Amino acid sequence: MTDCLFCRIVAGEIPADVVYETDATLAFRDIAPKAPVHVLVIPKTHFPDVAALSAADPALAGEVLVSAAQVAKAAGLMSNGYRTIFNTGRYGGQEVFHVHAHVVGGGPLGPMVC
Ligand code: 5GP
Ligand code: ZN
Repeated sequence: MTDCLFCRIVAGEIPADVVYETDATLAFRDIAPKAPVHVLVIPKTHFPDVAALSAADPALAGEVLVSAAQVAKAAGLMSNGYRTIFNTGRYGGQEVFHVHAHVVGGGPLGPMVC
């Protein structure tokens, strides 16, 4: 999708600080980090949110989760823990409608706020 910000990052049209990549997924640093480590993990193909992705391609949804764990491992987050978040839809706080997992950690995150 040419009007999708994250599709444009996949296409190389917008720069991103890529930290991990597979054939099907891309991981890059969030432009406005909310924690010492804040990486976004996306499938390279466009799905608007995690519900659509998991319905259409469960294997690819799994690959996104595996990549998220690899990102956490490479960032040294395994020993103390971290958080993987999929904001979904307007009430879920989603702002970019190309599915992405937030991998956040590197310090205590505090309680999840709902
Ligand atoms: P959402 O609220 O949709 O779950 O999260 C979208 C995330 O994308 C936000 O944390 C925001 O900082 C990040 N973001 C927005 N625009 C860009 C961009 O151009 N580059 C990168 N790397 N991150 C972005
Ligand atoms: Zn997209």
